[in-house]
Amino acid sequence: TINKETHSFQTEVKQLLNLMIHSLYSNKEIFLRELISNAADAADKLRFEALSHDDYFGNDSDLKIRITTDKEAGTLTIADNGIGMTRDDVMNNLGTIARSGTSEFLKAMTKEQQADSNLIGQFGVGFYSAFIVADEVEVRSRHAGAKPEDAVSWVSRGEGEFSIESIEKSDRGTEIILHLKDDEKEFLEPWRLRSIIGKYSDHISLPVEMEKVDMAAPEGEDKEEDEVVVPEFEAVNKATALWTRAKSEINEEEYKEFYKHISHDYGEPLTWAHNKVEGKQEYTSLLYLPKKAPFDLWNRDKPRGVKLYVQRVFIMDDAEQFLPVYLRMVRGVLDSNDLPLNVSREILQDSAATTSLRNACVKRVLSMLEKLAKSQKEDYQEFWNEFGSVLKEGLAEDHSNREKVAGLMRFASTNQDSDEQSVSLKDYIERMKPEQDKIYYIVADNYATAKSSPHLEIYRKKGVEVLLMTDRVDEWAMGHLTEFDGKKLQAVTHGELDLGGLESEEDKKAVEKATEEKSDLIEKIKTQLADKVSEVKISARLDESPACVVASDGGMSIQMARMMKAAGQ
Ligand code: ADP
Ligand code: MG
Repeated sequence: TINKETHSFQTEVKQLLNLMIHSLYSNKEIFLRELISNAADAADKLRFEALSHDDYFGNDSDLKIRITTDKEAGTLTIADNGIGMTRDDVMNNLGTIARSGTSEFLKAMTKEQQADSNLIGQFGVGFYSAFIVADEVEVRSRHAGAKPEDAVSWVSRGEGEFSIESIEKSDRGTEIILHLKDDEKEFLEPWRLRSIIGKYSDHISLPVEMEKVDMAAPEGEDKEEDEVVVPEFEAVNKATALWTRAKSEINEEEYKEFYKHISHDYGEPLTWAHNKVEGKQEYTSLLYLPKKAPFDLWNRDKPRGVKLYVQRVFIMDDAEQFLPVYLRMVRGVLDSNDLPLNVSREILQDSAATTSLRNACVKRVLSMLEKLAKSQKEDYQEFWNEFGSVLKEGLAEDHSNREKVAGLMRFASTNQDSDEQSVSLKDYIERMKPEQDKIYYIVADNYATAKSSPHLEIYRKKGVEVLLMTDRVDEWAMGHLTEFDGKKLQAVTHGELDLGGLESEEDKKAVEKATEEKSDLIEKIKTQLADKVSEVKISARLDESPACVVASDGGMSIQMARMMKAAGQ
C-alpha cells in the first residue's frame, strides 16, 4: 500500500530490545503479563475518556481482553476493546522514540555488568517483552474515536525496524499478534496460557477470556458441512479490581502480583497496607513500600504518587497530590468516592477532599512504617538502608508529622562499631546518662571523619553516645529537628560546649582558671588568626587534641560552609 512506511528503531531501543530479550529469557512468560497489563490500562483509559466522549463506547461497552491461538499459523493473539491507538500514538508509543528512562536504564544495566530484571520493569518497556517469544509482532489498532478505515498496523521482527500502515479494522481496540518462535510453541497450549493468566491476572478488573473447552462435546461426532462453529468464550481470571475485594479474600501472591502490575517493578514489595474507609470520607487505599529504590530515586521531579481512581474509574497515573515528596517511594492505588469523576490535576490541586485524602494517606504510610519498624526490624532496616535519606527530607518538609518522622529515623552512633544506620532516637534516649538532657550528634562528610572528630573526645571520655550523621541531607534535615520527645538535639560542633547536667563544677573551674592564666596566649592566637576566626577560647571540649574549630551557635556548620564554597558562594 501507498501509506506503508518503514522506520528504524533508535539505537537505544535496539540495544534495549537486545538486552531485554536475553536477560528476561529465563522468565519469558512475563510477556503475557505485560501485554495483558497494557490491555487493562487501555480499558481503564477508555472508561476515563468516555466520560467526556459520549460516542467512544458505541455499542460495544463490555470491556474485555481475549486471548486466542492459531496452531496452524503459530500465532498467539491478545485482543482488547480498550482505547486503541491512532497512527501517531503507535509511532510515539511503539516506535522511534526511546522513552525518557531508556538511556539511564541502559547505563545502569551496563554498569551492573549484568542484566537485572528488576530494573527492566521500571522503564515502560513492557510491550517489547513480546519479542522474547515472538520473532514477529503485529499490532492492529483502532482508536475509540476513529473510523474503521482509519485503523493502523505496526509490524516488526524486533531487529532494527518496523513498518506502519493504515488498515481497516471493524472493531475498536488493539490486537497484538505474536508469531511465536519455533521453540516457544508451548504458548499455544490453552492449559499453559490459563495457568499464566491465573497467576498474573486475577486482580485485573476486566475479564481475560479464552475459548471455552467444551468437555461435554461427544467425541468423533461429525459436524455438518455448513455448520459455522461460533466459539464461546469464558473468563479465566477473577476479573475484579483487587482493591475492591475483601482483605480476607486476597492472598499474599495476589497482593504481590498487583504491586508488579501497578509499579512496573519486577521485584517484590516489602509490605503494604490495604484500607477501606467509610463514613464522612469514603475511599479505599492500597499502598505499597518497594524493596528496592528505582534508579531515579534522587530525581525529586520524576513522576511519582499513586494511581487515582474515582468510584472505580481510572482517572490518572502518578497522582502526586496525595503524597509528599519525601514519600515518593510509595506506590499504590487510591479509589475515592468523594472526588468528582471529571477531576483534573488542576482541580486536585486545591480541593479540600484532596487535602484530607492526603493527610489520610500520609498517616497510613507512616503507621505502616512504624509497624514495620516495631515488628519486622530486619525488613525495616532494609527499607531504611534503601530509602532512609529520602525519608529524612520529611523532617524539613512535613511539620505536622515531624515527631513521627523523627521516630522513624535511624543513625550510626558511637555506641556501635559500624557505619550501619540502625540507632533510633528512642534507643538513644533509653541509653542517656541520668544527668544528660540533650541528644548529641555530629554531621560530617563521611563515617571515618565523623568517628574520629576531635569534637567527640569529651563525650567519649564521659561515656556519652553521639549520633554520627554522614548523609548529604543530614545538615539540612537536622536543621529542622530541634527536639524529640522533649529532648533538645545538639550538634557537638556548634556553639559553647554545653554538656548540661554532665558538666562537673571541677571542669568549669579548670576552664575558668586556664582562661585567666593563658590570656596572653589566647590574645596572641587571636591576632594571628584575626581574619579567620571570630573567637578563641579555652574549652573542656577536647581530651587528646590540642585545638579544634567550632561553628558558632546558629551559624553555618563547616560542612555547609564547604558546600557553599564548592557552589561558588
Ligand atoms: P507502559 O505500559 O509502561 O507505558 P509499554 O511498553 O508496556 O509501557 O507500552 C507502551 C505504550 O504503548 C503504552 O503506554 C500505551 O500507550 C501503548 N500501548 C501498548 N499496548 C496497548 C494497548 N493494548 N492498547 C492501547 N495502547 C497500548
Ligand atoms: Mg505496559
